[in-house]
Amino acid sequence: MPRRPRLCIHTITTKPWSTEDCIQRYADAGAGGITFWRYNLDNRDPAQVGRQAREAGLDIVSLCRGGFFPGASAAARQASIDDNRRCIEQARDLGAPLIVLVCGAVPGQPLDESRKQIADGIAAVLPDAEAAGVKLGIEPLHPMYADDRSAVNTMRQANEICDRLGSHPMLGIAADVYHLWWDPELEQQVRLSAELQRLFAFHICDWKTPTTDLLNDRGLMGEGCIPIRQISDWVDQTGFSGCREVEIFSNRYWSMPQEDWLNQICSAYDSLYA
Ligand code: ZN
Repeated sequence: MPRRPRLCIHTITTKPWSTEDCIQRYADAGAGGITFWRYNLDNRDPAQVGRQAREAGLDIVSLCRGGFFPGASAAARQASIDDNRRCIEQARDLGAPLIVLVCGAVPGQPLDESRKQIADGIAAVLPDAEAAGVKLGIEPLHPMYADDRSAVNTMRQANEICDRLGSHPMLGIAADVYHLWWDPELEQQVRLSAELQRLFAFHICDWKTPTTDLLNDRGLMGEGCIPIRQISDWVDQTGFSGCREVEIFSNRYWSMPQEDWLNQICSAYDSLYA
């Protein structure tokens, strides 16, 4: 099996598999890294899961996900801060150096207000993240999710939040081609983020036409319209040497035999980076 040291797979990409299956199969496929989702830690000891992954030869790239800071009430916002603190503890115990933040939004609440609440929420948990040695990566989401999943929709907005919080070294950005490919400022923002030491992670998948489900119909690299290799080259040209993380939510792919699906992912990855 060829080694693919910069290939990382998000466990949600093979959602039908258990945590243990993901670890074993990704390692067998020659992947260099794994990004866990929090459901992987349900009823498990995060430290034990982390050990298992490292013993299998995988780097733990990140834990998905924290965030969802905006809330209609102070109580809701505090509950989110508490949950993010639990997430930071889990990441520390797991040995994950990074938490990806899906920042949140409240339908009907002005986006500016949600962005302020996001900045306040991140500010509240940054000291915990620093104490735990865990970085926080703001993941801007495609604007189709601006109603209820994230009021941060571009790298520029993510950079503005980082600026607002004083360019804290533990706060940066997770760039996902699915969310950002359309942005005319993308190349420039990738470069800027890297210059400011904020480019923490890089996620890949593809955009299908038509997309039949706003959440769970992402494409495999090569079957959509995103210039993934071009964006990936922009990222690498900044000196980024981290993993390319395959993150695909897909009802279609989750319904097929996952061994075959993983083979397809590896082939698509190899073609992309041939
Ligand atoms: Zn992502």
